[in-house]
Amino acid sequence: MAKLQQPKFVYIGGKLRSWEEAVLHVGCEAATRGLSVFEGLRGYWQPDGNFSIVMLRQHYDRLCRSARILHIPFAMDFEEYKAVIDELIAALIQPGIAMWSRTTLFVTEGHWGEDTVADLVVTAYNIGDETPAPINLGVSTWRRSPDVSLPARVKSGTNYQVGRLARIEGRAQGCQDMVLLNDAGRVAEGTGSCLVMVRNGIIYTPPASEGALESITVDIVEALAGSVGIDFVRRPIDRTELLIADEIALCGTLADITIAKTIERHPLEQPAPILSRIASAYLKACKGIEPHPFVELVPLPSCVQRQAERKKAGAKS
Ligand code: PMP
Repeated sequence: MAKLQQPKFVYIGGKLRSWEEAVLHVGCEAATRGLSVFEGLRGYWQPDGNFSIVMLRQHYDRLCRSARILHIPFAMDFEEYKAVIDELIAALIQPGIAMWSRTTLFVTEGHWGEDTVADLVVTAYNIGDETPAPINLGVSTWRRSPDVSLPARVKSGTNYQVGRLARIEGRAQGCQDMVLLNDAGRVAEGTGSCLVMVRNGIIYTPPASEGALESITVDIVEALAGSVGIDFVRRPIDRTELLIADEIALCGTLADITIAKTIERHPLEQPAPILSRIASAYLKACKGIEPHPFVELVPLPSCVQRQAERKKAGAKS
């Protein structure tokens, strides 16, 4: 198992600090109640020399929505949010290496929803940029919680406890990820991703009201499918449909589009004809190799500047 990287800097308390200094107090609601909302972002070096974050505006908007639902104040506007990410990533970036960044609003002050104060903490890690290998997918006995308890629409830290249990369960079965069903026993999503399935040439995914996060990657899949004339439908998916699906994949900013090679030990056709095509178009769009109008790439100005400074310094020495 890969150890979590410990990058040199973290953005916390309004500035960059060392990894060791990036700590929260044991008394805060982020620690006592697991109160936090977050976004995971992906950034790639682009053919034009920029380092760009995929769909940054959409991630910012979802962070605002999660914070709003949980009554966590978040006053930063989009440009400020972008500037913070730019500052941290520029301090950590390496030539040619993609990054994954976690932007988390930790509740640092307040009690039972009174006088709530949150701090935006940003971490960033190096990440590979190759197509993910197909996985064995299982169906967990653990369920996604309903909208009236821990809403799946909120990207909160606590929502991942059930995903963690599902992965522990899956590991014992040789599965790299697990499907979470909702309260009604229909498909909700993966542990850190949404699910898409192909039957008879049509891509299906459960709507958010089935217990899935409002996924930015799924929206991209819909747009990419539309561009090549493949129908895309959001509707409930029964558990048994997974077993007779032609293709299945998990979709998410971190998961990319990860094809399932088995579902509950039933083999699925490899390579998955439709979803492999979409997965390849997805990565090419994110990396700017074959841009797609729906896939917004937001350049981080300091990263490019930092790179140029390093080159200059290297040329001098
Ligand atoms: N569901 C969960 C539980 C997730 O953690 C993620 C990853 N953010 C997704 C779905 C997919 O969301 P997105 O495509 O916006 O990354």
